[in-house]
Amino acid sequence: MRMTKRFEKRKCLTGQTGVPDEDSMRTINRRSFLGTSAALLPSLLLAAENGGLDAVFYNGNILTVDAGFRRVEAFAVLRDRIAVVGSSAEMLALAGNKTRKIDLQGKTVLPGIIDTHAYPVMAAMYELRFVRPGICHGNFMFPGAWDAIKSIDAVIDMQPAWLYLDGATLFDHFGEKRMKWFQPYRTLLDNKVRIGGGSDHIFKIEPERAINLYNPFLGIWTVLARSPRWTDRILTPEQKMNREEAIRFYTLDSAYVLRCEKKRGSLEPGKLADFIVIDRDILRCPIDDVRETKVLETWLGGKKIAF
Ligand SMILES: [Zn+2]
Repeated sequence: MRMTKRFEKRKCLTGQTGVPDEDSMRTINRRSFLGTSAALLPSLLLAAENGGLDAVFYNGNILTVDAGFRRVEAFAVLRDRIAVVGSSAEMLALAGNKTRKIDLQGKTVLPGIIDTHAYPVMAAMYELRFVRPGICHGNFMFPGAWDAIKSIDAVIDMQPAWLYLDGATLFDHFGEKRMKWFQPYRTLLDNKVRIGGGSDHIFKIEPERAINLYNPFLGIWTVLARSPRWTDRILTPEQKMNREEAIRFYTLDSAYVLRCEKKRGSLEPGKLADFIVIDRDILRCPIDDVRETKVLETWLGGKKIAF
C-alpha cells in the first residue's frame, strides 16, 4: 500500500497539477517525472523502488531533449526502457544487487539520432504506413508554403547536406532572391511547422564520402552555420537554428516526422533506452567543432551495439 500511495503522488506530478512535497524527494527526484511526454509506466517505477533495475548510467552530461531540454547526470534502465532520470546519487541509490552501474565519466549523451530520409528505411516505413503525411525533400520553399503545409497537418523531411554540398552552386545559378527560402529553418520553426532532418543517403558507405552525406553532426552543424563548402558566404544567416533546435531536429522532431515520438527521440521515463555517447558537449563547444563530433558508443534498447 505504501508503494501504491507513492505512485499516486508521482502520477499527480506528471500531470503538472501536483503540489510539491518533500517525501517524494527521498527516493526519486520529482523532476525525473516532469515534462514526460511518454506514458508513465507503473512497472518501471515499481522496479525502480524495488532495486530491480537492469542498469544505472551515472556521472554523465546527459542532454535529455525533453520538453525543458534538461541536462541531467544519470538515468536508469529496465529492460529496453528508460525508467527514471535524475542525479547520480539518486540513480545509484535505486540500484539493487543485480543492477549494472555504468560510469559515463562525464561524457555527453544524446538520444539516438534519427534520420528521416535514408532510402531503405524510408521505403520500409512507407510500406508499413508508419510515417505521417509529409513533404519529402521539402528544401525549396516559397512564402506561405508553411501555411499550406500546416493546413493539411503535414510534416517536412529536410536535407541539410544539400545546403552544405550544393549551396554555393545553387546560389550562383538561382541568385539571392530565389534562394531566399531555401531551407528556411527559422521561418518554419517560428511558424510551428513540424520538420525533421534526413540524409537522403543512397550509395556508398562512408558518412562523408557517400552520395548525399549521412553524418548527422555535419547536418547539425550545417543548420547552425549555413556555411556551404567552396565559399565563404553564409546562406541567409537569418534562417539559422539555435543549438537546442538543431539537436531536437535530429532527435525528437525526426521521431515525430516518423511517428515514433512516443517511443523515441528523447531520454524520458517510458521511452526506449536508445542513446549515444559522444566525444564533446555540442551545446557548449565552438560551433565549428560540432561537425567533428565522434560517436563513442551506441546503445539500443539498453544494449550496447558494437560496430
Ligand atoms: Zn530522397
